[in-house]
Amino acid sequence: MTVLQEFVAALSSGRIQVVDLTAPLSDQTPILGLPEQFGQTWPFQLSEISRYDDDRGPAWYWNNFSTGEHTGTHFDAPVHWVTGQQGADVSQVPVSQLIAPAVVIDHAADAADNPDFLLEVEHVKAWEAEHGALPTGGWLLYRTGWDAYGDDPERYANAGRTPGISVECARWLAEESPIQGVGVETVGTDAGAAHSFDPPFPCHSFLLGQDKYGLTQLRNLAQLPATGAVVIAGPLPIVSGSGSPCRVLALVER
Ligand code: MN
Repeated sequence: MTVLQEFVAALSSGRIQVVDLTAPLSDQTPILGLPEQFGQTWPFQLSEISRYDDDRGPAWYWNNFSTGEHTGTHFDAPVHWVTGQQGADVSQVPVSQLIAPAVVIDHAADAADNPDFLLEVEHVKAWEAEHGALPTGGWLLYRTGWDAYGDDPERYANAGRTPGISVECARWLAEESPIQGVGVETVGTDAGAAHSFDPPFPCHSFLLGQDKYGLTQLRNLAQLPATGAVVIAGPLPIVSGSGSPCRVLALVER
């Protein structure tokens, strides 16, 4: 059998399981609200074109939709941040990087105790001591348990107190680690309090500035092993886009 034939056989036998890491996309999907002096992203909204109606379209159902690029489970491209403005837009991300190994660091218990919990370099190094080095060209998926609140926008936002990554850890992940990006369960890759960090929004600033990527509003990270998963992330190739809602799947060997 070829490698792809073995792969298909493993999928159909269940030896490889597909885990959906994507939040459903609807007008209830949480979005980031910025202070009112800034421009605001649009929530996801469907507008029906026709639904089997005689006048609008007797045999078909379809919708228009409107939303910001950074709604729901989505992909942050380097050009999203001022530090990455010379980098790739979302249509330019090499497709080979959209399928990549992923590891999971689990601090859900810490975030349950402290919604302002920040991942530090020492946490990642302790994880590496147990599980091995972070994957070259892979994702670090940061589990905080925040996906449990994804259907309740108010609880999810938690009045701006949500877990994240410290300034030094964001810099280290961007500049010293071999990963291609960070995936989180929260509304964005940065902590709720990151507007007051120095620099502000360090994950965006450092990672996107190093041509790395972000994945947000992931779900079901609890179903993944610490190491060994493969993530398939499929942002829309919006020409000149800064990001895109994204279907994110993980392949896991059982
Ligand atoms: Mn984003």
